[in-house]
Amino acid sequence: SNANLYALLESGFPADRFSVAIQTPNKSYSWNDIETLSAQYANLLASFNLEAGARIAVQVEKSPEALMLYLAALRAGLVYLPLNTAYREAEVAYFLSDAEPSVVVYPQSSLPWMQALARDAGGARVLTLEEDGSGSLPAMAQSQARSFATVACGKDDLATILYTSGTTGRSKGAMLSHGNLAANAQTLKAYWGWRSDDVLLHMLPIFHVHGLFVASHGALLAGAKTIWLPKFQVEDTLRYLPECTVMMGVPTYYVRLLADERFTRPLCRNMRLFISGSAPLLTETFASFQQRTGHTILERYGMSETVMLTSNPYDESAGRRIGGTVGRALPGVEARVVDDANTVLGAGEIGNVQVRGPNVFAGYWRMPEKTREEFAPGGWFKTGDVGHWGAASSNDGEPTQDIPSDYLTIVGRSKDLIISGGFNVYPKEIEMIIDDMPGVAESAVIGVPHPDFGEAVVAVLVPRAGADIDVAALQSRLKTLIANFKVPKHIELIDQLPRNTMGKVQKNMLRDNYKSLWA
Ligand code: ATP
Ligand code: MG
Repeated sequence: SNANLYALLESGFPADRFSVAIQTPNKSYSWNDIETLSAQYANLLASFNLEAGARIAVQVEKSPEALMLYLAALRAGLVYLPLNTAYREAEVAYFLSDAEPSVVVYPQSSLPWMQALARDAGGARVLTLEEDGSGSLPAMAQSQARSFATVACGKDDLATILYTSGTTGRSKGAMLSHGNLAANAQTLKAYWGWRSDDVLLHMLPIFHVHGLFVASHGALLAGAKTIWLPKFQVEDTLRYLPECTVMMGVPTYYVRLLADERFTRPLCRNMRLFISGSAPLLTETFASFQQRTGHTILERYGMSETVMLTSNPYDESAGRRIGGTVGRALPGVEARVVDDANTVLGAGEIGNVQVRGPNVFAGYWRMPEKTREEFAPGGWFKTGDVGHWGAASSNDGEPTQDIPSDYLTIVGRSKDLIISGGFNVYPKEIEMIIDDMPGVAESAVIGVPHPDFGEAVVAVLVPRAGADIDVAALQSRLKTLIANFKVPKHIELIDQLPRNTMGKVQKNMLRDNYKSLWA
């Protein structure tokens, strides 16, 4: 049978192809529209006679047509390469020279510089697509046939190159196959209990694993309707939530909803599932959400290289959803926590998270060296995240929670780990303690160069509106709660933490800002 991901997704479309699949505030698309539009786009792409494995790079605003283009690329057996819409010319230049696409799709407004870049990147064909679904691509596709025989693929054939978010450094192109994406879509369909009568509230960007794969694949494969919005806005969420059963978001969405008193339990009356991921959800947000809505946010963990890895249980008879944890390894996914010598650690011990499974990517695009470094013997992929099973045993402050030993907690990224005076400091532990202090909204703990200690612990914190924080008092209080080597040597107050579009705190920017404190 055909391992093309589109063939799998299509198998989930409902028998009634004229029912609504995608609803935007002013337009709707039936399942039949998805099939015919993606067929027309695929016919257009096929008419370019590109070689197998050719890349199609796309940096457009979110629209249903952009999703059709993704599906068309799958159907035509081409490699889809979505780019963050925030990237500007200099950044795009890097991605195009790295990926050497045969086709680039852009809004008209970027054309002046895009055409030059496309020329430099080996003469890629440039097409336009606007937020409202118009442009040269849809115009050219209009005269194409409305059916297309989806190209036959093997499961290892490349489907997309997804550039990572660039939180820890330069973005890397993760090569995901049809088989990687299909395995994860099927697993999540069963694990999260997707149903054909679900209605998904889709507000995430579609250049990233969360919005493009987890959310879109979920609804398509379930044959469920999507309420499709260009971006997250509190106002829109309040308006559409009552019609929906599933919402996916980054933690910031939930924080912003809770900050609005119009966000209440009755609005959630039809909701079955709220999912959070892409960045850590504060336990405070988890608890306030439960209190306000009666719903327990399900937190899951994954990344561009692997799609989803772990999830809190959907079925609450199988286990509780525990705030601060990312739950259990998904069926088919193996996860382990190891020390730097790849020795497996037991529950409570903090170490590197490594994973294996049919969802794990083949490697980084044109980075064979980096790819080799990121796999441990036995085919284990090094996620770069640090975590532990069950409750942490090294926690010398708070009373340890009762957490089953097959639940994973992520404490941070190995690149964010601080080594001060030879001691390991895990930023998350200190952040959680600081966040609980009166007047603190949130915090980020980083390490910066220090002449005596190698690195010194620095806390950057955001006060609550109107709060007056006494830094010296906070520091003395910390000294009574945690070992001295963990206590920040410097505390900085700022208005907000630097975050990228996926709501991830950009610690490399903070490290850069404060690198000269002792230098
Ligand atoms: P780069 O690899 O370029 O530095 P990135 O890792 O942020 O960027 P993504 O692939 O978008 O790029 O993000 C994956 C990372 O997001 C994970 O490795 C993890 O650090 C973080 N993450 C995702 N979900 C969660 C979660 N529920 N809790 C904590 N961290 C999470
Ligand atoms: Mg990463």
